[in-house]
Amino acid sequence: MVNEHVKEISRLTSDMVKIPSVSSDPEGIAQIADFVKEWLGNNGITSKKVEYVKGFPVVVAQVGKGKGSVMLNGHMDVVNEGERSSWKHGPYSGRIDASGVYGRGTVDMKSGLAVQMHAFVELADKVDYRMVLTAVSDEETGGTKCSKPLSEKYSPDLVLVAEPTRSELIVLGEKGVFWSKLTAKGRTAHASTPSLGSNAIMLMMDDLRRLSALNKMKVRIPQETRDMVRVASEEFGSDAPRVSFNAGKIAGGLKPNVVADRCELYADTRLPPGISVDRIFKLEREMARNCDVELVQASEPNYTSPSNKYASEFIKVAKNCKSGMKTSIMTGGTDGRFFRYKGIPSITYGPGTMKLMHNYNEWVPFSQLDTAYKVYSSYLERLNGYI
Ligand SMILES: [Zn+2]
Repeated sequence: MVNEHVKEISRLTSDMVKIPSVSSDPEGIAQIADFVKEWLGNNGITSKKVEYVKGFPVVVAQVGKGKGSVMLNGHMDVVNEGERSSWKHGPYSGRIDASGVYGRGTVDMKSGLAVQMHAFVELADKVDYRMVLTAVSDEETGGTKCSKPLSEKYSPDLVLVAEPTRSELIVLGEKGVFWSKLTAKGRTAHASTPSLGSNAIMLMMDDLRRLSALNKMKVRIPQETRDMVRVASEEFGSDAPRVSFNAGKIAGGLKPNVVADRCELYADTRLPPGISVDRIFKLEREMARNCDVELVQASEPNYTSPSNKYASEFIKVAKNCKSGMKTSIMTGGTDGRFFRYKGIPSITYGPGTMKLMHNYNEWVPFSQLDTAYKVYSSYLERLNGYI
């Protein structure tokens, strides 16, 4: 039996899925922002559309009065659909059947946003604190144009991000990311006399062999995150608690009969809690004896302590709603990190199976919508007199 809340959340998810708001498409992005604003308006909520960076709208709505404030954060943008023929139902069908809702964004993360929107409207006149809903449009492209400026303008007591966690994981942290560019410089020579030159590709290979040792590096995981990191390795595999080094893109050399004088490589290294970007940057420079190492972009691993008053209460409320709830960190990044860097507790929790993110035949079951709605509404109600 599907209850009224789940019916409404499904309908809202489906309507949003029908708008192809792919990150790189300004038209789709504008359309979804207008839809969210209009939907809120139809439900009696005034909102504004802000563009911290032109072309990247954020829909912001605020309700309630009081000293404390909570921000609900969700993204409206989706990654593109890939091969259309790989979708059983169209990627933007928004089909609803007896089990759930289907299409691009049902998991990442229009259903999570729908849960937040529905709970927001429902609790608008029932909270004794300020509740701010923020629907952003550039999460899939880094978050620097929406959630980063939001983290500079707003200082809520707590941020709730509805990225998919199967309505079962309470994610309080995420791994750091370090993108580097490695450049090896050699000397050209004719391939018949390679010893007269210096081969940049071979120099790179030599460094890569050393750098792959990063995958085996021991990191002292901070005590308070150990349980979460353990759950993450059960959920996301053996890379979760470790440093992982991935050589992602390589280019070098001219042709077979020329000794390569240049080779460039882009690498993505992920950092568990307990190691900093600075430290990994220094290590990579030491290990890459032949190459120059430059920082392309980076973000520190970050987490909210499970003993933080808002986090521990969330865990309690969620466990009351359903058994099997687990606290974890994530291997990928979310917009929650911008707030954690400012010392603001940030909890990631939402419907959608993580394996289906950015995948074909994305769909979300009613049961997960039901649980997510129960957790969000119970928790937001619980914050009355608590925040
Ligand atoms: Zn997402």
